[in-house]
Amino acid sequence: MRIQYLGTAAAEGFPGVFCNCEYCRAARGDLKKELRTRSQVLIDGNLLVDFCPDTYLHSLRFGIDFSAVKYLLVTHSHTDHFYAQEFVNRGGNFAKQMQSSDLQIYANAEVLSVYREGTAREMSENIGSHIQLIQVRPFEKFSAGEYEILTLPASHTNNEDALLYCISNGESTLLYLNDTGLLREECYRFLSKNGIKAGFVSMDCTFADSPGPHSERHMGFEQNEIVRQKLLQYGLVCEDAKYYVTHFSHNIAPFLERMEAEALKRGFYAAHDGLTVEF
Ligand SMILES: [Zn+2]
Ligand SMILES: [Zn+2]
Ligand SMILES: [Zn+2]
Repeated sequence: MRIQYLGTAAAEGFPGVFCNCEYCRAARGDLKKELRTRSQVLIDGNLLVDFCPDTYLHSLRFGIDFSAVKYLLVTHSHTDHFYAQEFVNRGGNFAKQMQSSDLQIYANAEVLSVYREGTAREMSENIGSHIQLIQVRPFEKFSAGEYEILTLPASHTNNEDALLYCISNGESTLLYLNDTGLLREECYRFLSKNGIKAGFVSMDCTFADSPGPHSERHMGFEQNEIVRQKLLQYGLVCEDAKYYVTHFSHNIAPFLERMEAEALKRGFYAAHDGLTVEF
C-alpha cells in the first residue's frame, strides 16, 4: 500500500489562516519547508481520506489528478475535513476525460447532510448523479472495490458519529486514527475480532509534546504511546509496523525538523505534507 500525506495540519493550517503568532510568522518566512495544509491522505492513488478545503491546493502542489479517485472516506464533518462545495466542479464542462467517472463517498449522516447543504445551490444533475453517497456507522465492515474497510467510533464530538478507518487492500492494512482522543476499549476488541494486523498506524497528534491538560478530543505523544501500547497488547499490529503522527496544531510549533526529532524520540515518525510511504 502506498500512502501519501497531502496535508498534516490541524483545522487552522500552519501557518494559521488568521494567525499572527510567532510560530506562524516564522513559518510564513519559509513556506516551502514549513507549510502544513489541512488533513488529507491519498491511498494507492484512488482512495482518499477526507476532502479538506485545501484539496485543490493539493492537486497543484503535488500534481495530483483527483479524477482518479474512486472512493472517498470522510472522518467527520468539521470544515478542515470536508469541503462539500468543491464537488460541483466534478464533471460536466468543469472536468473532462476523468479517469473515474464515478465517485463513492462513504461518510456518516452528518457529513452527508453537509454535502447536500453545500451543493444545493450549484450542483447540476449530470454531475451529482455520478457521486454516490453511502452512509456508514461505527463498527461496520464494507468493501469499496479492492478495499476492505472497518469503521470505528472516534472520541471526538458528541454531535455526530466521527469515524476512524481501518483500510486493507488485500496485501496491507492501514489504521487511520484522526481526529480522535484515546480509543474506546471496544475499538480494540472489534479490530481483534476481525483479525486485523496493521502495518501502518497514522495517529492524531494535535497536541504533540505540549504539557496538558488539554481536550480529550485529540491526542498528543502521550496518548499516541498509550494507543501503540494497546495495539501491541491486543496483537493488532505487525512486528515491523510503522507509526506516523499528524494533524499538528500551530500552538505546538510544528516545524518540520522539530516534529521529526520529537516523534523519533518516541519511536514515531512525524508526517509532513507530500510525504509518501510504501509498506
Ligand atoms: Zn481536524
Ligand atoms: Zn499561529
Ligand atoms: Zn474535527
